[in-house]
Amino acid sequence: MSKKILIVGGVAGGASAAARMRRLDETAQIIMFERDNYISFANCGLPYYIGETIQERSKLLVQTPEAMYRRFRIDVRVNSEVIAVMPDEKKVRVRSGEEIYEETYDSLILSPGAKALKPPLNGIENAKIMTLRNIPDTDRIKKYVDHEQPKTAIVIGGGYVGIEMVESLVERGIKVSLVENNPQILTPVDPEMAIIAAKELQDHGVNQHMSNGVQGFEDLGKEVGVILADGTKLAAELVILAIGVRPDTEFLKDSGLAFGPRGHLIVDANMKTNKQDVYAVGDAVEVVDYMSGKKTAIPLAGPANKQGRIAADNIAGLTSTYKGTQGTSIIKVFNLTVAGTGHNEKQLKAAGVDYHTITVHPGSHAGYYPGAAPITLKLLFAPDGKVLGAQGVGADGVDKRIDSIATVIRFGGSVYDLTELELAYAPPYSSAKDPVNFAGYVAENVLTDKTKVFTLDKIAERDEAATMFIDVRSPMEHAKGHIPNSINIPVDDMRERLAEIDKSKEIWVYCQVGLRGYLASRILKQNGYNVKNLTGGYKSYEMASFVPTPQN
Ligand code: FAD
Repeated sequence: MSKKILIVGGVAGGASAAARMRRLDETAQIIMFERDNYISFANCGLPYYIGETIQERSKLLVQTPEAMYRRFRIDVRVNSEVIAVMPDEKKVRVRSGEEIYEETYDSLILSPGAKALKPPLNGIENAKIMTLRNIPDTDRIKKYVDHEQPKTAIVIGGGYVGIEMVESLVERGIKVSLVENNPQILTPVDPEMAIIAAKELQDHGVNQHMSNGVQGFEDLGKEVGVILADGTKLAAELVILAIGVRPDTEFLKDSGLAFGPRGHLIVDANMKTNKQDVYAVGDAVEVVDYMSGKKTAIPLAGPANKQGRIAADNIAGLTSTYKGTQGTSIIKVFNLTVAGTGHNEKQLKAAGVDYHTITVHPGSHAGYYPGAAPITLKLLFAPDGKVLGAQGVGADGVDKRIDSIATVIRFGGSVYDLTELELAYAPPYSSAKDPVNFAGYVAENVLTDKTKVFTLDKIAERDEAATMFIDVRSPMEHAKGHIPNSINIPVDDMRERLAEIDKSKEIWVYCQVGLRGYLASRILKQNGYNVKNLTGGYKSYEMASFVPTPQN
């Protein structure tokens, strides 16, 4: 007897489950229901089509129902919404146009995804306020931009989708303002990393209204008025609402399936729900945080695809497990890339985890080969050396560094492993000491007490009476800009000028990126001083001092 497998949702998790299912079971009857008209489209490419980096709409449609049938013999039913699941009867109820019918199953995979949050704010039901999740949303926004040619837009929400939309609308020649409730954009990375991207936005003419939520909207005819929490009133011809997502699981509310606190389906490591033969995957499920083992929800395409495959494996009798999501993510912000993996500093602090952090600014490849660009690379690690997280920002080579570190994290590796990684090197690509090795060396120096470091946030807490703050760069660099209340003793003069340095005080040194500060700290330590070096140096300080200021 062939198995009958139903799949709800035909995009990332659903389509990947369907194809794997067929590869494992040639005899199964597989039916995939999709509420919309499209399956297996490139969600992640949607902003780039609106921005016209992707020119052909057809490129977004990775699979069609016809092709899915031809290759996999999957019965794809588009415009078919599953409106109820009855796990005790092993049935689903489907609405397709006027028709409502039921379908039985042996196994069911739910991959309904997540939908854009749309809080019940005054005036939110305005046709010029749009969200972006799927092809119809994309068509709506693109058509509006193409035909109405708005000159101004406001994007609400500085997460991944929001920032991608900011960039895409700027690419279309629109003057864009960004409104963000948090004090920083791109919350998966820490503030001093996100601020580098904020400057990139400002450099591309994007006005940023930070720490300011939206309290309501006004219909102004050609424009929508956006009223911010502090009373500021903005107006634009188009508003994109990208303030996050929530699991699209309302249709399951009477199913007896178990939900987590934020409405995500609860699944075990085999992606099984609490109901017999019902599996769930993707943005709609709670996952285990790979780092902490605690429950979390991280809506990303990679995990959804992997989970779809795992659910199919388990139905086919293979015992695959999902070991957790570590939150590896990446975004292009105009000429920069911002990426991260594992836990950030905010998460570690909130969880009370003991950690160290260092920041380095190595070049993406050998400085003597044209085109190298600095990468700001932040590493977080435990006192025993285990890598807890990493973040990178730069114009080139950020992706492969974060991916290397993500791999080390996945295998439970340490900063010592980072120093040992043998990574591909030739001058156009890297340096003999890759930035990942380099970050490992700096972290190793901290762990083996070759150097102590302090972070930017400690500067404000410095006890002036008990410390001496020394800029070890050249006098010219010091004159161009320095951290207030620091004196200048260049590293090359340090040995001759030790008499000026008070041994009774803790010595805080900094240079441009941290290297000369490290050298100075070695000189001082070996001369009996208690010394700390600013990790990331003046460069990190200067970048973190940027405050986005709306220009007009
Ligand atoms: P989806 O891919 O959303 O698929 C769910 C499908 O189920 C939908 O088509 C929906 O119509 C259908 N459905 C829901 N309920 C029913 C029902 N009752 N009956 C029938 N059908 C139903 N992630 C990344 O990792 N990198 C990126 O760069 C990235 N960029 C993104 C950009 C945008 C604009 C968006 C919206 C998302 C992006 N994501 C990105 C997130 C990624 O797309 C999701 O994590 C992933 O698609 C989740 O897969 P899923 O199968 O859970 O849900």
